[in-house]
This record gives sequence, C-alpha cells and structure tokens, in this order.
Amino acid sequence: MMTKQEAIDLFSSDDLIGIGMEADALRRKLHPEGVVTYIIDRNINYTNFCTEYCSFCAFYRPMGHAEGYILPKETIFEKIQETVDLGGTGVLMQGGLHPELKIEWYEDLLRSIKQKFPKVHMHCFSSPEVNNIAQVSGVSLRDTIARLRDAGLDSIPGGGAEILDDAVRHRISRLKCTTQEWVDVHKTAHELGMRTTATMMFGCGETIEQRVNHLEIVRRIQEETGGFTAFIPWSFQRENTSLGRFVKQEATAVEYLKTLAIARIFLPNIVNVQSSWVTQGLKTCQLGLRFGGNDVGSIMIEENVVSAAGARHRASEEELRRIIRDAGFLPKQRDTLYRTYFLN
Ligand code: SF4
Repeated sequence: MMTKQEAIDLFSSDDLIGIGMEADALRRKLHPEGVVTYIIDRNINYTNFCTEYCSFCAFYRPMGHAEGYILPKETIFEKIQETVDLGGTGVLMQGGLHPELKIEWYEDLLRSIKQKFPKVHMHCFSSPEVNNIAQVSGVSLRDTIARLRDAGLDSIPGGGAEILDDAVRHRISRLKCTTQEWVDVHKTAHELGMRTTATMMFGCGETIEQRVNHLEIVRRIQEETGGFTAFIPWSFQRENTSLGRFVKQEATAVEYLKTLAIARIFLPNIVNVQSSWVTQGLKTCQLGLRFGGNDVGSIMIEENVVSAAGARHRASEEELRRIIRDAGFLPKQRDTLYRTYFLN
C-alpha cells in the first residue's frame, strides 16, 4: 500500500500520465469488465436554514432570513415522484443545520416518504446534520443513527468532510463538525450495518500533506469497517462564496486529475472512485475515467448547493452515456449502493 510520503511525493511529480496509468491499472484490476456507472437520482435540499456559516457555502440562509425555507412534505413527495418517473432509484436529501428541527421531525419525514415510495433509496443527512440532529434532540449519536435507519434512512452521504484536518476546518467551516465527529458518524453507521460514502473537497487552501492526511483517515476507517461504497473527490468552487475572496484560484484540470488518480492508488480498499462532471465539466470528467474513476455520479435532476456556488454544468443521461462509451467503457446505470444487476 502506498505510504503517506509516497503520496506526497507523487503530488509534486510532473508525470501526470504516469500517475494516471498507475491509477488506471488499479481501476482495471478492480473493474475488469470495463463498466463505468452512473446513477439517476435527485438532490433534495429540505431546508437552507443553517447556523454554521461555512465560508465556502453560497447555499445557506441564516435563521429568520426572508429567502430561508423548509420544504413542505408535499413538495418533497412531488420531487420524488418526478425522480421515479424519470427512472430514478434514489434520493440524496441534505439540508442546512437547523437549530430547531428535532429527530421526530426527521423520523416522520422518512417514514412518510417510505410509506409512499418504499423502493426509493434514501441517502440522506451528512455527518454535520446527523451530529446536529443528535445535539438538538439530546439523543446519543448511535441512537440517532439507529432511529433514522429504523425510520427509513438507507445510507449516509460523505458530505461535510471537506478536508479532514481540524486546522483547515477551523479556517473554512469553524462551526461545523470536527474531523473526529465526521469519523464517528461514519464508523457508527458502519457498525450499525449502514453503508456510507467518503468525500473530499480539495483546493480550499489546504497543504498537500493535509490532503494526504484526509486520504489516510478514509483508508483507515475502511480498513476497520469496510463500510464505504465509494470515494468522491471534488474541487472547491469559489464563485459566490466568501472563501472565494481568499482562495483566488480554483483547482485546474491537471490538479483535479492528479488528485483523483492519487486517491485511486492510495485507496485500493475502496472499490468505487467517482469522476465528477458537476464540478469539473464533462470533458475533464471523461478524462478522469482514465485516471482511476469508474463512476460519473448522478444525472442530478436537481442540485442547489454546488450550483449556488457557481458550478453550472448540465448533463443528460444520453450525454453521460456518450462520454463513457467514447472513453472506451460500457455505461451502466447503478443504484446508490453501486449495484447494476437489476437495471439495464
Ligand atoms: S456547507 Fe452545510 S453546514 Fe456549511 S453553511 Fe452550507 S449548509 Fe450550512
């Protein structure tokens, strides 16, 4: 397994193609059938009220703000129905950290969704939200996750990880969960039999060592629990965010591809690595399939958080299938747990 120092050295190498080929070789070993997957699902942002004021976020509104909202259940149902009608299999539901919504509100929402849509996979509530629900409700983390699971939560997204290094977190999202709190949510969920994803938002002013530390934390959790389905790196989008005033330059395509490839090599114990078109655009995403990526993520019927920060890429299912085919792979729709067998 690659050591931390080897990863740091690789970041300073100019041999982009060599790094990509190594990542591609590992991808081929893990996915010898040459399939690249995508999912049809929808992001639902149930509230934009938030108390955390993260400097990279253009989505949240403070409590009492005229543009703040909590989506009514009926609106959420309509969005899920549209997703199902478009061939979607799941919902990624996330929101701001609301200081008044207790666990009963989330349980009720999940139960009523599952009653109407028993087959839709609910991939919801990133670590900061889960921690917030536990705190607001005065319930332990384990009980919070178990209760949400019993109400219909199927898996937990990796959002809120940004860079798992408290010095970076202090600078960009001072109030949001600590590294340890993010780790605890994922480990506890894995212990309770739930799968989760691991993410990384890089290019927000962190050092390469801090970036590699993040990869190491993820690798260690996976060694202990095996609960991550995928690793999903993307780069910070600066437009419309207050952090964008300090981080003047977004990661380039070369930096993205290098980070993707090194992540693929560093995390051989995570089967799926995603190449992102939402933040990088279709062309870089397509190249990412030869830099270790074996999945292009979601068709994204709706996404408010990243688009609020300035990412404006759009793709239809046919476009995604075309870029996958053109890169030499077989496109296949998957579900949230990366299963393809019941679909096309
Ligand atoms: S990133 Fe999430 S926690 Fe931070 S301000 Fe935005 S909505 Fe709130």
